[in-house]
Amino acid sequence: MRINRALRIGVGALAVSLAAALTAGCGGGEKKSALENAADGKLTIGIKFDQPGVGIRNRDGSYSGFDVEVAKYVAGKLGVQPEGITFKEAPTPQRETLIENGQVDFIVATYSITDARKEKVDFAGPYYIAGQSLLVKADNTEVTGSESIAGKTVCSVTGSTPAQNIQKNFPDTQLQTYDTYSLCLEGVNSGALAAVTTDDIILAGYASQSPGTYKVVGEPFTTENYGIGLKKGDDELRGKINDAIEAMFADGSWDRAFQETVGQAASYPTPPTPTVDRY
Ligand code: GLU
Repeated sequence: MRINRALRIGVGALAVSLAAALTAGCGGGEKKSALENAADGKLTIGIKFDQPGVGIRNRDGSYSGFDVEVAKYVAGKLGVQPEGITFKEAPTPQRETLIENGQVDFIVATYSITDARKEKVDFAGPYYIAGQSLLVKADNTEVTGSESIAGKTVCSVTGSTPAQNIQKNFPDTQLQTYDTYSLCLEGVNSGALAAVTTDDIILAGYASQSPGTYKVVGEPFTTENYGIGLKKGDDELRGKINDAIEAMFADGSWDRAFQETVGQAASYPTPPTPTVDRY
């Protein structure tokens, strides 16, 4: 009897620890690296789903925008066809976590390279340089640029560099934060908020989506170096993505991608290419 009972308990404990080991295995510990996934012909890439011209999930389920084109080009250089890509939404406040948890292989989502973010993830690039700007309703005459936002409420996304900049350097401006820029737009549309602030190309995309409703005002007032975010310490992947970015600059694909996305949607001139930082 006694032996039987001990045995039963022992088997039970074994089952529990087996289940725990299996869960741990599936949960992250044994996830393949991005380059291993690429070797299997598959990549999961984080993009924005709600930024017209830059990164958007269309009504028919397709994806388009400048970041999407960059993602596809880089994937191609890693040996992955467009059919092998799974695009995953990477909202601003969740990007580092998505990379750290291995839920994406890398992120191409208007992602500014900053020292604080570099403590958690690494960046290839930059592949584009944007600048913080302001979007207001088309009939707004009060907000004409960053000099005129004192005493106003401006909206940005939680954790974004533009939100941090307002908080730090514009003490007389009130900051409203949401999880997406589309929510900020609703506030501007209803008149509750004076402006949305984020990178110029994102705002240009929103303005062009609703002609006559909004306008982008003033000069860009920060420098946002867009990088491709990837797992910290994966230097091999970073090197290969940097090679791909440079190839995209060199063979004319970068120019074409820009013109066909942001350029076309928002009549935006194609800027010069940045220099990749191989840190
Ligand atoms: N580039 C800025 C950032 O990475 C703003 C754009 C965004 O929220 O994605 O925070």
